[in-house]
Amino acid sequence: MDISTALPILEVKGITKRFGKFVAVDNVDFFIRDGEFFTLVGPSGSGKTTLLRMLVGMEKPSSGELKLRGNRINELAPNKRPTCMVFQSLALFPHMTVGKNVEFPMNIRGVKDSDRRTRAMELLTLLHLNPYRYYDKNVTQCSGGERQRVALARALAYDPDILFFDEPLSAIDAQLRKVLQKELKDIQRQTRKTFCYVTHSLEEAMVMSDRVAILRAGAIEQIGTPDKIYASPKNAFVAEFMGEVNLLSIVATEPGKATWEANLNRLPIHIPVDPTLESGAARKLLIRPESLRFLASGEVAGNSIPVRIINEFLLGSRIQYHVEVVPGCNLTVERLREERTTATEATLGWEITDSQILES
Ligand code: ATP
Repeated sequence: MDISTALPILEVKGITKRFGKFVAVDNVDFFIRDGEFFTLVGPSGSGKTTLLRMLVGMEKPSSGELKLRGNRINELAPNKRPTCMVFQSLALFPHMTVGKNVEFPMNIRGVKDSDRRTRAMELLTLLHLNPYRYYDKNVTQCSGGERQRVALARALAYDPDILFFDEPLSAIDAQLRKVLQKELKDIQRQTRKTFCYVTHSLEEAMVMSDRVAILRAGAIEQIGTPDKIYASPKNAFVAEFMGEVNLLSIVATEPGKATWEANLNRLPIHIPVDPTLESGAARKLLIRPESLRFLASGEVAGNSIPVRIINEFLLGSRIQYHVEVVPGCNLTVERLREERTTATEATLGWEITDSQILES
């Protein structure tokens, strides 16, 4: 299914939340498509939880409008909305079995006993919890990962139009988190439910999402598919948030040329030609670690500079190097293990087309 053509299920128009004079969410506009895995990502304090709480109905917007399938829902209480929230702190009923927890939403709706049980068994199977082992188990006897799965099974039992997730995996260890991320995406694909997920981990967002919105200080900095954001980050904030990158402070001198302000040193370099860039304009130049390479003697590149290799880190099939350009100015280089070098002095090169000029 091509999700990029699906219709919006939730529209967020000019939503703002003020706490006194403080603006936590600032005039935010976006929409979520029906059946989409949409993620809100941003550093701590950027307004993710406040925004999510407004989408769910737990917080009232100071201004703006929320529309679900075209109908305004601002005034609709959370329990009257066809949406469901999966929390970081799992709100399972400790005195109930796994099966009864999952059946709870159906119980409220008056679904009859045998249908409830059948559906609970199906949902547990979907969540990789063998129903014959887990149905009668008490939730307090389940591990953190299992409880997370039970919570998701229970959320799905509500059969909501949209499932909202507030950092549900943040308390789970790194290895299990990776497994659950993939499972969550599989489940989203299988159920075709709309998922709206909040995390501060862009890596998590990139693995699971159809589209990602990056928040900074209550505003959306960039919104798009993980591919698009990776290939064309809007500015240095987004690029840096995306993971380990090299961001060089540059000042344009003439078309296609700049000086790199490398810790009090000014190094002339070649940059992509940008007609909008006036001489004297300060920018950041993005170069990914994998776009940098050590040049063999006589090999040419768009830019080449002598460096000192100060450290190497083995990352499975790849090796990361930290190299010093001038004292106080280091770059990160990533190469395949086959290209490992033992040199301490090297010439580092990159192609002009592998660098991108970004707003600071
Ligand atoms: P984190 O990743 O740390 O959970 P977040 O991106 O979810 O952060 P929010 O919890 O939405 O951020 O908070 C955004 C800003 O709004 C913060 O500066 C926070 O202190 C402030 N804030 C949140 N709730 C309230 C409140 N009830 N009263 C006053 N300020 C608040």
